[in-house]
Amino acid sequence: MATELKCLECGDKLIGRADKKFCSDQCRNAFNNRNNSDANNLVRNVNNTLRKNRRILVELNPKDKTKVSRDKLLSKGFSFTYFTNIYETKTGSIYHFCYEMGYLELDNDEVLIVKRERDL
Ligand SMILES: [Zn+2]
Repeated sequence: MATELKCLECGDKLIGRADKKFCSDQCRNAFNNRNNSDANNLVRNVNNTLRKNRRILVELNPKDKTKVSRDKLLSKGFSFTYFTNIYETKTGSIYHFCYEMGYLELDNDEVLIVKRERDL
């Protein structure tokens, strides 16, 4: 039973080799260009979110450490979903870092913001 293959870009029926994916070079190029730019956009958006998170942490914590409310971070557009790494202390506290700026979620919807002076 032969399955009918279609061009991944335009959907036209493909004639020829079974491993063909595109009807033409134009379609292959258009498809690859679009997918690359989607990937690049994703990387750019994630990088922007991480930089914004870092900027917010720096702004709220100009010195070593500060305690702020979770709402304060959210109101500035902070995203708790994005961070660069996690550090767990010996006592089990989990810090999330955005580059050198980190935070620890405390009770009562408070957040402790810290600055990393050296590699942990
Ligand atoms: Zn095509």
